[in-house]
Amino acid sequence: MSPTPPAPVPSPLTAPYWAACGRGRLALQRCGGCARFVHFPEPSCPFCGGDDLAYERVDGRGTVHTFSVVHRSFLPGFAPPYVIAWIDLPEGARAFGDIVGRAPETVRIGQAVRADLSGPLPHWRPA
Ligand SMILES: [Zn+2]
Repeated sequence: MSPTPPAPVPSPLTAPYWAACGRGRLALQRCGGCARFVHFPEPSCPFCGGDDLAYERVDGRGTVHTFSVVHRSFLPGFAPPYVIAWIDLPEGARAFGDIVGRAPETVRIGQAVRADLSGPLPHWRPA
């Protein structure tokens, strides 16, 4: 397997998200109708049906909602064991990604994490 993780393939819907990541920032869609954050990117708001979804920067803090330790990877660039997790953001949205910078067996539900946008793919690190 190649040691390089897959590169993002932006679509018109996700291009602003990936562009923000490329600038080291986390930006999520926010609905102009109901003000809720929406993630993953959607063409219309799953809460109110509105289509006024602009990207807005968020600060990248979160807490681990749940996680899994992957011991057999099928993704290039992700050496097992590694942790994949759903991350609750204080903005009300939930993100998905891997947690790096800590031994997998030490990750806990409720743990504070912060987005690491230093590479082409977002990661999460213990805060
Ligand atoms: Zn809405």
